[in-house]
Amino acid sequence: MTQANKLVDPLLFELVLKNRQMAYAISDHTLTVAQVGGATSLFHPLEGSIIGRSLYEVAPELIGSEAELQTILGGESPFYSVALVNRETPAATLGYVSLTNLPHRDDAGHCIGIVHLVEDVTQQGVLEQRLTQQRNELALLRDRLAEQNLALTAANVELHNMHALKSRFVGVAAHELRNPLTSILGYVELLEEDEAQFEAEHVQFIDTIKRSAQRVLSITNDLLDVTRIEAGNVELILRPTNLATLVEEAADELQLQVNAKQQRLFLDASDRLPLALCDPARTQQIVTNLLSNAIKYTPAAGEISIRLDANVHAGFIVLSIADTGIGIAQAEQASLFHSFFRASNSHLTRATGVGLGLNITRSLVELQGGRIWFSSELNQGSTFYVTIPIEEQPES
Ligand code: ADP
Repeated sequence: MTQANKLVDPLLFELVLKNRQMAYAISDHTLTVAQVGGATSLFHPLEGSIIGRSLYEVAPELIGSEAELQTILGGESPFYSVALVNRETPAATLGYVSLTNLPHRDDAGHCIGIVHLVEDVTQQGVLEQRLTQQRNELALLRDRLAEQNLALTAANVELHNMHALKSRFVGVAAHELRNPLTSILGYVELLEEDEAQFEAEHVQFIDTIKRSAQRVLSITNDLLDVTRIEAGNVELILRPTNLATLVEEAADELQLQVNAKQQRLFLDASDRLPLALCDPARTQQIVTNLLSNAIKYTPAAGEISIRLDANVHAGFIVLSIADTGIGIAQAEQASLFHSFFRASNSHLTRATGVGLGLNITRSLVELQGGRIWFSSELNQGSTFYVTIPIEEQPES
């Protein structure tokens, strides 16, 4: 201190300490305070003078650190500090101070007491407190997130299991239904061969049984297809295929239905259509689904046009099936390929269905590497487009 007094004006020293919110207390070797300076309000509030009081009264936080202070007095340690002590300020708000204890030496360098420094570190303390609080909140959020993730994973697993169970149930049920249905249809066909021996009313009964069984069989097959597609169990056998012939055959099979509604069916295919590379049976299913929809959702005397155009440059053939039917409302168009979706006007033509055909059709088209889309206007008609890859010709 004598050294400081010699070099620094004591008034200036005091000004700097107060400005920096620092204070000091010099105590002798019995830790009795002999001199104080700077912002003394930073000390623990005491009644009366600080001079002559024990350092432990001035800084009660040092109680318990007697051994550390003795090592300074004994010259074994250069300092002892306590960081971020919270202390009530004169304004009764909570503040933070840091305490540093240094040896006080005489001119000969002997330790004769302790210089106790107090520094206001409230800003740092508040920041650290906020940081700790935010860290705790973050940890809490992280814990909650981990818990929610765990619950979500468990729910997902359960959902997946339930979905698999549902698919298995539907698959087994549809499979078990198919055998008796096929046998009913077989016997109905036998009865049809002997139609002459039945009365007209009974022939009608046989026809009703046949149509109902065919309908249930078609739903059963759709359900089986959906479970196969969901499980990734659809095996495609890709072959070079003449699409014009395939489409003609599909149209022939539906000709009775077209005739029954007095509709007109047109097929327009270029003579020089390249071969497609596709699974013929599945492509037949795609065409039949779209064509039977066009027939179902087009009123009597309407028109249906099938076109096949090659886009050799892009590597595919475009199949389009246009009808002059009931169309699909704009608001419902986005849901058209969802399973079990039926548009609100689907009853208008008294068409039966369960809303699986387009969903299956889209999956089959995409499995073959094609795309499907449509354009439609309510009460005007719809056109469905499908692309089917062209068989690549070896370069000659
Ligand atoms: P389904 O015909 O068995 O109901 P689909 O999946 O084939 O099922 O078709 C889903 C729905 O899309 C149909 O119920 C119908 O509302 C609508 N839809 C499909 N094709 C047409 C079409 N050509 N014209 C008008 N609506 C159609």
